[in-house]
Amino acid sequence: MSLSQGRAYLAIPGPSVMPDAVLQAMHRASPNIYEGELHDLTHSLVPDLKHVAMTDADVAIYIGNGHAAWEAALSNVLSKGDTVLVLATGRFCVGWGEMAAGMGALVETIDYGDEAPIDLAEVEEVLANDKDGRIKAILAVHVDTSTSVKNDIAGLRGVIDQVGHPALLMADCIASLGCDRFEMDAWGVDVMVSGCQKGLMTPAGVSFVWFNDKANAARGDCVTSYWDWRPRVSPEIYFQYFDGTAPTHHLYGLRTALDMIKAEGLDHVFARHEKLAQVIWAAFEQWSTHGPMRLNIADPAARSHAVTSVEIGSPNGDALRKWCEHQCGLTLGIGLGRSPADAYFRIGHMGHVNAHMIMGALGTIDAGLKALDIPHGNGALSAAASALAMRA
Ligand SMILES: *Cc1c(COP(=O)(O)O)cnc(C)c1O
Repeated sequence: MSLSQGRAYLAIPGPSVMPDAVLQAMHRASPNIYEGELHDLTHSLVPDLKHVAMTDADVAIYIGNGHAAWEAALSNVLSKGDTVLVLATGRFCVGWGEMAAGMGALVETIDYGDEAPIDLAEVEEVLANDKDGRIKAILAVHVDTSTSVKNDIAGLRGVIDQVGHPALLMADCIASLGCDRFEMDAWGVDVMVSGCQKGLMTPAGVSFVWFNDKANAARGDCVTSYWDWRPRVSPEIYFQYFDGTAPTHHLYGLRTALDMIKAEGLDHVFARHEKLAQVIWAAFEQWSTHGPMRLNIADPAARSHAVTSVEIGSPNGDALRKWCEHQCGLTLGIGLGRSPADAYFRIGHMGHVNAHMIMGALGTIDAGLKALDIPHGNGALSAAASALAMRA
């Protein structure tokens, strides 16, 4: 008997759970796009988008998903034939690099596989050997959503500076922004991309590129007028923000989402995600004591607070996902970019997520393991409750 009626929990790593307040803000007639409230609202987003990225850098808004922001960022800095260093820790950085190659860049990849973060010592060596400074940009993903690895972006800037290499540091924070702490200016990131449908809790369709003066000055010849970030950050007329009609309803939703983040406080948002991640890990560590279950990233310091990737053996990943969704209304993420994909699943715990949702998701998974006779260690829910009850 299915018990899935009631409010579902979409626990995939994007799109994330949308707050009712965001949906209600979008539920309105189309506004006047020529003047008035929408213009004021759009201007008001800019300082708050800088705040969530902890930066004074410029931010350009694009009507498009994360892939659009990837292309926007690359096209503004690259020329055909430029060399790009890709630090791959999962499917997403590989994909960003493929896009750079498609635009005519020479892509060099250091692949760390699917279970480990970037090795900073190795990057330092590669940069030290690049005596002529051929590498124009370094592409890194802060949190790779396919593996749930979290990379040390500040440490990466440290080794770039150590070597004195001039390359731009470009970071993908599509999964991490508003979830895992990220400080664009303090960490020395030149270009950062993100989208609105993960930590920013808004329906997919708007994305952002933050860039500093160094990145702006690095301008290559790949950029075409639609992707050009310059008019978007200093629009003389309102329509230059978007190079056409504004994504009106997304802007209302985003305004509300940013208000929610401000009201909670960015530090509290980060702390909430960290605590909930610890609760999840506590359960998985117990389940993993017996049977096929294993957290994909062994080192807690290299784990995201927004998404968790789990290996559970083929075809248990798919079987568990189906059971949780159809029996209980909990949708888990697929084993994206992994082989065999049905040996993995992921939990998205980004954005509008609280403790009872996480405890419900863990309880559902525990029931699924039992229903499907997947061997597992006991005591996971008790361990999760203890982690939740622990102070600080
Ligand atoms: C989701 C995601 C993307 C892709 O974003 P889309 O909106 O699906 O195009 C890229 N990088 C990371 C790290 C992501 O999590």
